[in-house]
Amino acid sequence: MAKQKMLEDLFLETLKDIYFAERQIVKALPKMAKAAASEELRTAFKNHLEETHGQIERLQKVFEIAGKRAQGKTCEAIQGLIEEGEEIIEEFSDSPAIDAGLISAGNAVEHYEIARYGTLKTWAALLDMPEAVKLLDANLREEHKADELLTKLATTSANQMAA
Ligand code: FE
Ligand code: ZN
Ligand code: FE
Ligand code: FE
Repeated sequence: MAKQKMLEDLFLETLKDIYFAERQIVKALPKMAKAAASEELRTAFKNHLEETHGQIERLQKVFEIAGKRAQGKTCEAIQGLIEEGEEIIEEFSDSPAIDAGLISAGNAVEHYEIARYGTLKTWAALLDMPEAVKLLDANLREEHKADELLTKLATTSANQMAA
């Protein structure tokens, strides 16, 4: 009989999911930055791109702690969210609503990441990997900050520009 899959397996599968997602996000963020109308939003996307490189390095350390090779696994959820962002770029690039649309796409990606890192952090604690908890928490905090900054840019300017 095959060995029963347990929390450690779930943890590793989910780690591969977010590792894949972060690497897709690295490819998507320059396109989001380029499409942004306001300098502030462009800077926000560029800064989050820099953070994302660091997040990927932290994930590689988590793989190391788990004794596994860093490896991604296709995440259709992030592919779908990124495609929605690309649709907004195609359909609104000439519109004053472009930034509001880009922010809405960005918020969706950050919420996906927040869900993943919240789960992974909880599981790493259960699996008795305190160093992994710290690394995952560092990523989680950056995603929260990115999400909050996007929301602030929407409510202080981008939404009014779109209306
Ligand atoms: Fe991220
Ligand atoms: Zn995923
Ligand atoms: Fe997924
Ligand atoms: Fe993020």
